[in-house]
Amino acid sequence: MRPEILAKSATAIRKQTLAMTIPATETQESSSRCWCCGQTYSDDELVHLGSRPEAAVCFGCARFLNQRARRAQDEHSTTIVARMRGMVDQGRDFVVEHGWHRLPVLGSTLRWLGDHLP
Ligand SMILES: [Zn+2]
Repeated sequence: MRPEILAKSATAIRKQTLAMTIPATETQESSSRCWCCGQTYSDDELVHLGSRPEAAVCFGCARFLNQRARRAQDEHSTTIVARMRGMVDQGRDFVVEHGWHRLPVLGSTLRWLGDHLP
């Protein structure tokens, strides 16, 4: 085989190798990226889904998804606890709609309260 053909073959092999390694890099990047908010986190700051381990969400988004799931579940429940949580959710929505959670002093208290209420 002529040297220029060997050089082309080596280049083709390098390109093929690069093409094969790029998806692995993207997979590695996406595994440290929250699939909900898109922020990058270290792997110990993410919760991986059971049957889809490549999909992960950060702790903040996991709490948000838990809250949304609980709200959806409470919509179909008639228990007194579900109704009380619904009232807390309405209060939380009211605070967020008016932007009170961003106020200098009151906002930090409301955010703390929001994190600790059901
Ligand atoms: Zn997130």
